[in-house]
Amino acid sequence: MDTLNQVLLYPAFQLGADLEGWLAAGGGQGLIAALAEPAAIIPTLREADLRGMGGAGFPTWRKWQAAAEAPGAGKFVVCNGNEDEPGTFKDRHLLRWTPHAVVEGGLIAALATGAAHLVLYINPHQAAAVAEMRRAVAQWQASPWLARMERALGHPLDIAVVETSGRYIGGEETAVISWLDGHFPFPRRKPPFPAQSGVGRAPTLINNTETLAHVPHILRHGAAWYRALGIGAAAGTKLYSLSGDVMRPGLYELPMGTSLQELIFVHGGGMLEGRDFKAVFTGGPSNTLLTKRDLDVALDFDSVRARRSRLGTGAMIVISEGTSIIRKVAEYIAFFAAGSCGQCPSCKAGTFQLARLLDRIDGGRGTAEDLQALESLCRILPGSGRCGLIDGAVTVVESSLHTFPDEYAATR
Ligand code: SF4
Repeated sequence: MDTLNQVLLYPAFQLGADLEGWLAAGGGQGLIAALAEPAAIIPTLREADLRGMGGAGFPTWRKWQAAAEAPGAGKFVVCNGNEDEPGTFKDRHLLRWTPHAVVEGGLIAALATGAAHLVLYINPHQAAAVAEMRRAVAQWQASPWLARMERALGHPLDIAVVETSGRYIGGEETAVISWLDGHFPFPRRKPPFPAQSGVGRAPTLINNTETLAHVPHILRHGAAWYRALGIGAAAGTKLYSLSGDVMRPGLYELPMGTSLQELIFVHGGGMLEGRDFKAVFTGGPSNTLLTKRDLDVALDFDSVRARRSRLGTGAMIVISEGTSIIRKVAEYIAFFAAGSCGQCPSCKAGTFQLARLLDRIDGGRGTAEDLQALESLCRILPGSGRCGLIDGAVTVVESSLHTFPDEYAATR
């Protein structure tokens, strides 16, 4: 079923959405292994070096262990399918085309942590994904698997599909908790971390959709098999959302550690005809830009961090020479300004002001004072918000200032 570099997407497009088909093709084997030896689940994820695929790249086993060890009943496992940032379009495909892998990953997480609730938290803008997940969950609930799970857990297991607020900020972990508790998805400062106090104050494990989709495969085939799928020290595979000025934009599942060069020029078919490569907004538009000298970078969490950027969600928005970086940054900052929840005045006003200044500068109406104001905001805004939105927005503005100073030259 699984080829060397296609673990998640290959079975999805072959199998469609029926549980029967998923099981016939080897689905369920990971859950069987987990049920046979629940204590081995977390060590296996540790050995596999599975990382959080939602952006942080945090070791998955650590989160699972924290939730498993946290005292308290009625624990939650939440599959975060809010995916709403520009350039990222991976989770919606998993939810729509391989929903059973996601549910199975969630069940294994529930087993490892002793959870009583599994919530599939999905962006309503992805209506097909919501519908497929509802269908998939109903099939698991009608199957003997649920009773097996409950016997192993020693208590009932509730599985629910919940539509998110559809807001970008709704994907932030503490905003997820707030929404599931029935409130507006306002982020809050951590600690307490979700494993300490999450939904209904119960210990809560929140994992990105792609992270959970890897789990059944790891439990089925083993940690060594998963590690070997990656290149060099990187483990497993990664979904890369490739967009922008390339010949073949799309979703690619490749070995973790595939180079940026290979992603763009081999799988993506290279730059659009007549265009030259200029830069990449990586991991969603809230990280440091990668440029020509970074084309050799291995696209894994540690290698991209070594270039002072972040792999993030694996989104790569490719920009060609002739495209105004300031314009693109202005668009993304406008997105963040619209997405700011408004709790922190520095974020609401700061992102609005950044967007306004960038817009003026890009339109040729900027002054030297505008540029100074932009640089000043980049110094004072970081760390002023309850969540990472404002820091991400500043990071990309700062990166454009440092990497493409010539584009700002007319304003100086
Ligand atoms: Fe809301 Fe922005 Fe504050 Fe985050 S930093 S909590 S998005 S106002």
